[in-house]
Amino acid sequence: MTIKNPTLIADIEKIEYNAKVITTLCQHYNIQVAAVTKGVCAEPEIAEAMLRGGCTMLADSRLENLQLLREQHFDVDHLLLRLPMISEIDEVVRLADISLNSEIATIKALNSAAQKQQTTHRIILMIDVGDLREGIWPETIHKILPEILQCEYIIFEGIGCNLGCYGGVIPSPENMGLLLQQKLMIETSYPISVNLVSGGTSTALQLVASGKMPKGINHFRVGEAILLGRNPVDRSPFPGTCQDAFIIQGEIIECQWKPSVPLGQIGQDAFGHLPVFEDRGIRLRAILALGRQDIAVNGLTPCDPKIQILGASSDHLLIDITETHHRYQVGSTISFFPNYAAVLAASTSRYIRKICINS
Ligand SMILES: *Cc1c(COP(=O)(O)O)cnc(C)c1O
Repeated sequence: MTIKNPTLIADIEKIEYNAKVITTLCQHYNIQVAAVTKGVCAEPEIAEAMLRGGCTMLADSRLENLQLLREQHFDVDHLLLRLPMISEIDEVVRLADISLNSEIATIKALNSAAQKQQTTHRIILMIDVGDLREGIWPETIHKILPEILQCEYIIFEGIGCNLGCYGGVIPSPENMGLLLQQKLMIETSYPISVNLVSGGTSTALQLVASGKMPKGINHFRVGEAILLGRNPVDRSPFPGTCQDAFIIQGEIIECQWKPSVPLGQIGQDAFGHLPVFEDRGIRLRAILALGRQDIAVNGLTPCDPKIQILGASSDHLLIDITETHHRYQVGSTISFFPNYAAVLAASTSRYIRKICINS
């Protein structure tokens, strides 16, 4: 069976363009950009566009996605973003050139797996500079580093940090400086060089744009700013990029005039919320065959600004089309701009058709 609707449409040229804007900015500061593909389940055409746009690495949080990328034979390093699970360690060594790490037990397991496979594996040691997600506390570097250096099949590639994900901490000259101090400290205390200093995600780009990124940070892992042209700190547009590379389309399966307040006593909706309704009289309402199983409803913005989203259940999205000038009817498609969560959900849903276009 071929799915016609709903559809997630990705504009390859816009994604490549956004990648170009960001990698050009970063190149000025000697920062290389790893293309983070997890938001689109590593769709190969999108990954390729990000590489054409100047990204020099592919990065994803899931091994299934890295496997998909591997099958394309892109000639760049593949980076695993999520800390490896011990239970998948052989696949990590097989599929990722580099992984982010913070646990010596995991690094030792990577070492054994690499030895078994007669290869080496590169790691970036994650340091927590305040966001309280992954990373070792800076004071414990002296404990873990000598142990890492004893792992013969592990290549210590550098250090990195993650910000803005759990604690929402914004990259600053201070926390970036803290990361750089660790590089200096490691290089003066140990006979190794720290090649990569991975300063963060899309949220770090504003620091580069404002000229405040301390010199020495030379690597970023960027997803949202390339895919959607937005700064995740406040979702503001990133200067020079486009914000409309993705569109989600749903098809109208009912279109009728109805009251705006339900009749009868109101209990919980399908998702456990007690809905409230404003009486706006009789309205023209449309139901789309698109639901919470496929999309993050709160992450959709109708492309037609006169359309209002009323709500959604598992398989239905309700919209108010009274104010629009278009004559939508049963069978018409309605377009939305998805945010990052909605792109991720749509990419993951097997009930959504995915197509790539060139604008
Ligand atoms: C998801 C992720 C990124 C990319 O984040 P964006 O905000 O999309 O740029 C970078 N690093 C790690 C560790 C991640 O998990």
